Amino acid sequence: MKLTIEEHPETIKRYRHIKPAPSRKGGRCATRLLGTSRLCTLSPGHSGPHVAHGAFNKVVAVWDAGATVRKSEGDTHRAGSVVPRRPPREGGIVRAMKDFGRRVTRYTEHFMEEIFLLVFVLAMVGFVIDWALRIMGVR
Ligand SMILES: [Zn+2]
Repeated sequence: MKLTIEEHPETIKRYRHIKPAPSRKGGRCATRLLGTSRLCTLSPGHSGPHVAHGAFNKVVAVWDAGATVRKSEGDTHRAGSVVPRRPPREGGIVRAMKDFGRRVTRYTEHFMEEIFLLVFVLAMVGFVIDWALRIMGVR
């Protein structure tokens, strides 16, 4: 089984209730959909098919072990087994996980910067208002 939002926009809606792994700390299954850059966003060792999520937790691809490794008749019968198959190149996965982690870190840093700026601006506004009140109080 291999469903993508581009090829099966209607069928894939059946899987839209599936949410990605709640916490990034727990890691991701990160099994790659063959021939794409999509990685499974469910928690490691999940049951059922692999699911990739895009923006706003939207399900963009659903596939099982048969679409992860080479396609053969024997594999399709065992489709949906609990144990996710790992692609043979572990190095690729490790690199993809590192890239993912780096992207998350960069996003978090950017986010913290914005929060800091917001707090700074609010403090400035408070300071100005405080002084304006003092000046008005003096007069
Ligand atoms: Zn998975």
